[in-house]
Amino acid sequence: MQDSINNCDLLVVGAGLFGSVIAEQASRDGKRVLVIESRDHIGGNCYSYDDAKTGINIHKYGPHIFHTSNERIWKYINQFTEFNSYRHQCMSRVGKKTYPMPMNLATINQWFKKNWTPAQAKMFFQGYADAYPNPQNFEEQAMALMGNDLYRAFFRGYTIKQWERDPTELPASVARRLPVRYNYNTRYYNDLWEGIPVKGYTPIFERMLDHPNIEVRLQCDYFAIRDQIPNDKLVVYTGPIDKYFNYKYGVLNWRTCDFTFTTFAVEDWQGVTQINYPTLEIPYTRTIEFRHFHPERNYTKEHTVVSFEYSRTASYLDTPFYPVNTDKDREKYSLYHIEAKQLPNTIIGGRLGEYMYYDMHQVIASALTTYEKRIKNGN
Ligand code: UDP
Repeated sequence: MQDSINNCDLLVVGAGLFGSVIAEQASRDGKRVLVIESRDHIGGNCYSYDDAKTGINIHKYGPHIFHTSNERIWKYINQFTEFNSYRHQCMSRVGKKTYPMPMNLATINQWFKKNWTPAQAKMFFQGYADAYPNPQNFEEQAMALMGNDLYRAFFRGYTIKQWERDPTELPASVARRLPVRYNYNTRYYNDLWEGIPVKGYTPIFERMLDHPNIEVRLQCDYFAIRDQIPNDKLVVYTGPIDKYFNYKYGVLNWRTCDFTFTTFAVEDWQGVTQINYPTLEIPYTRTIEFRHFHPERNYTKEHTVVSFEYSRTASYLDTPFYPVNTDKDREKYSLYHIEAKQLPNTIIGGRLGEYMYYDMHQVIASALTTYEKRIKNGN
């Protein structure tokens, strides 16, 4: 191990998307890279595998749908995989009824028992936007977008389950992740490019890291070998930033998820990839039926695999999934960030390192920029 550390030009902590993009870029420029990963696999939370019994590709850490409107990022990721033409679709189950999500004209008309045109719906919702001209938190933002009835039916309960916080404590930006549409467009994302890698996500990472200049060490905990790393070694750390600094400014709030995977002996269990459950009485937030990610694959008609997703607070033993980002968290994060910027040979990045609710395309953009600005020609 010590030899690997001594011989590399760059030590990357974490084989998730941020770390793998950095390693890939550096290796192409002739730098020798050591990637250490505490888990027993590469790919971070994007990791996917083909289920042994059904052959269905499972996203082990929750659904990942690649989408971007950034041509550079789309071209970049396409070097490592082919994408299918999947377009994400989701429904939301309230009581005994199932509605399209994100909210579109079908959701609105079904809920209010109307037959509004786009213009009529727009006029109706304008009143809510006018009442909240400058939304300061998740609840105000949701009220501005959809009004009280729809917010309480579709967002409030889901958000309380997902974040275990009153929605007034969460940032408005989280509510803006989903559009409200005054037409019958049922697509989840608005981006120009979208798809699922035809062989799943893991082969992307295998290709990124498959270079003679890259050595990958799995089940290697950075904190166990930290003392062996010389001070002048360039390190890219992609774990939680509060952990890096031994929580000196306090613990940042993170959410993690538990999944139960169930195989049902039917071809199609729920008829769509994702159903959300905003009702507080149901403990899980959403169910994902993985077969729908790959309409191009000839999956078995005998079985299907569904995950039930439960959100909870991440303890220091868990890998965090989502930064909660309350005002207090932002204050603490800024202290960590100031200190991180002063580290001479260490760069902290990625969803966990930057404490950002990044999507995959944003992580890639951040990693490419970081590489170009801070690593390519010396730190
Ligand atoms: N959300 C909700 N109801 C829904 C879908 C989303 O309340 O049916 C809220 C919830 O707070 C969630 C946020 O919108 O955390 C962002 O949703 P997104 O689908 O982007 O979450 P992700 O897929 O990243 O878990």
